[in-house]
Formats: sequence, structure tokens, C-alpha cells
Amino acid sequence: MSQLPWHHELTAALADRKAAGRYRQPRLRLGDQGVNVRVDGKAMLSFCSNDYLGLAAHPDLKLAFKQAVDKEGVGSGAAHLLTGHSYYHQALEEALADFTGQPRVLLFSTGYMANLGVIDGLLGRGDAVIQDKLNHASLLDGGRLSEADQLRYPHADMALLHKRLHNAATARHRLIVSDGVFSMDGDLAPLPEIMAQASQHRAAVLIDDAHGFGVIGKGGRGTVSHFDIAPDAAPIQVGTLGKAFGTGGSFVAADETVIETLIQEARSYVYTTAQPPAVAAATLASLKLVEQEDWRRSHLQALIQQFRRGAEQLGLNLMPSATPIQPVVIGDDKKALAVGKNLEQAGILVGVIRPPTVPKKTARLRITFSAAHSEQDVNQLLSALEQSGAY
Ligand SMILES: *Cc1c(COP(=O)(O)O)cnc(C)c1O
Repeated sequence: MSQLPWHHELTAALADRKAAGRYRQPRLRLGDQGVNVRVDGKAMLSFCSNDYLGLAAHPDLKLAFKQAVDKEGVGSGAAHLLTGHSYYHQALEEALADFTGQPRVLLFSTGYMANLGVIDGLLGRGDAVIQDKLNHASLLDGGRLSEADQLRYPHADMALLHKRLHNAATARHRLIVSDGVFSMDGDLAPLPEIMAQASQHRAAVLIDDAHGFGVIGKGGRGTVSHFDIAPDAAPIQVGTLGKAFGTGGSFVAADETVIETLIQEARSYVYTTAQPPAVAAATLASLKLVEQEDWRRSHLQALIQQFRRGAEQLGLNLMPSATPIQPVVIGDDKKALAVGKNLEQAGILVGVIRPPTVPKKTARLRITFSAAHSEQDVNQLLSALEQSGAY
């Protein structure tokens, strides 16, 4: 194609990014997602997927997917409200409602779209959305899309949440929004305190539990279950299916009225093609494993403990996380990139996360564990970290 009229601005901005150590590039993976992957042609031990339970390439999921393709083909062909809503979508919504203990569940094609749809679908001008500053980008974008007043509080700061609720006292409706497990820090939202403040100020609560479902709580029922909050006192919950569930898509769990409202109002539900039915069929298979195979969660916890003990001995800068997201804070962007390179040369793949995804001067390695890792894998990671200059 011909160059854009502002082509030179773009090339300059790309060069600036590169010089600042913030250039992003996808890698090419061949073969199954898992802990032993081939990336850019090289065999690597991976600590950077969100496939926390090791289900992405599980034979049960593959089989369910293939059988559904034989029955229903590949594409869904239309939005849910036309002819895109298949038997498998319906069965999955019902199974996820049982799983969460909520009256209704609505599927979305991605977590990003669920977050846009649920905030924009429930709020409008004159309302207020109050978000933790470290919330996922899709939640912040959903807030902007809704045209509600945007308020933010410093990460998990309940005194400041209180203040923001006061500031929003004259808003028509107030919605507090938080990650359940924070995606770049691995810590949990103080959900009981958030719920208490919400009821005091007549606010609603939305919890994005992309990293909680499958991983924490009874039978993997997420942050709400972890804090023992009864289903009938629960916030609206968003779950994503591309992480611990090993498939793709997402869901919102709520009461009948909220779900019916989203079906009418959430543009990212109405104006998009339903996910392929075979993906929903595979998720039905993975939901069984998520619920039944507690050993995946206990093995994961053992690996996390092993890693934290070893990393503390090495003097690495850990964060207070009890989840499979274990950041090692490096600080400087370029140093973080260099450490990531060193690890890569040792055959270890971790996420190198830099601003603007995380606050300035907190560039970090985002190390994630999977139930498919072994004790030996963690030892290999620790010895590579020792050689990598990560402290
Ligand atoms: C990954 C993620 C999303 C987006 O989900 P996708 O299904 O990948 O679009 C939303 N919220 C959080 C907290 C996430 O980590």
C-alpha cells in the first residue's frame, strides 16, 4: 500500500519506542501450548503462559473440540441473537451458571469484549465507575466507552475507595470495578472490604476474575469463593476461558435482570459473531477437569511455595503473591530486557513486562506457573535466575 500521510511520525515513534526498550514483538510458537514449547525455532521451558492448570492441549479438550466440529462445523456464522447461538453455547452457559452458583451466565467472545460490554451495558452518562488503578486495560477501556464519570483509587487502597465513593455520591449509579487476582502483580483484591463499602454507599461491584477462576477458591470457583462470599451476596463476575480453562472466550455471571440487560445493551455481545461452538464444547470438557482435578491446584501451590523459598534465598525482589503469577521486579526497562535475554539464552521463557502495562520503574519478569510444571522445572528456573543478573 502507499505510505500514510503521517508515515514519518510513525517511524519516529517506533524508533523512540525501540530506544526506550519498549518495543513489542510477537514470537512464533510451533506445536501445543504447554511448558515445553518451540518458540522462534528453539526449544524453551516456558513460564509465561496463563494456562495455569495445563489444560490448553489436554486430550479431553481436543477430543471434545473435534467431535463438536464433526457435528456443528467450524464457524458459528452469526451473532448469538441471530443463528449463532448453538447447543454447545447454551449448555456451557448453563454449566457455568451451576459452577458459579449464579442464576444466569452470558458468553462473550473474549474477556476484553466482556469487560467492554458489561460496563458500557450497565452504565451511562451521569453514572460513576470507580476502578482500582491496576485494573486490566479492558476494564479501563470499558469505563471510557460507557461515558460514566471515571474515578480511580490507588491499588487496593480502601481509604481512597471510600473517598471516591463520597466524591461519587451524587452520581445516579455507582459501580466499583476490580480485578479479582491482579494480572501483573498476582495479589488478590480485598473483596470483603470492597463489598462492605459497596453496600454502605449503594454501589454495585464487578469483579474481573480472569486469573482467579480455575486457580483459587473451592473447586476453582475463584476469588468470590476464596473469600467465602455466598453466591446470593456475590458481585457481578467476569471469567475468561483462555487462561486456566485452556480454551477461549469469556463469560459474565450475574442475576437474571443484569444478564437480560446485557443481552439488550452490551454492544460487544450484540454486534459480534458468536465464538465457534467447538470452543464452547471444549470448555465444557475443561470445566469438568477444573472442578474435579483438585490435584492440579495443590501441585500448583507446591510449585509456588518452592519457587518463593528459592527466590528469597537468591535475594530476588518478589511481590506478596500467593497465586501462580509471581513477578520479579527489576525496575529499569532495559535491565529487565537484558535479564529476559539472559534467561532466554539459558532456554527459559518468562514475560518481560514494561510500562505502560505496569507503572514506571517497575519493569518486571512476570513468571507464571502451570500445573504441568515439575519440581525440576522450578529448580531449572531458579538456577537460571541466579545466573541472569535478576537482582
Ligand atoms: C486476559 C485478561 C482479560 C482479557 O481476556 P481475553 O479473553 O484474553 O480477552 C481481561 N481481564 C484480565 C484481568 C485479564 O488478565
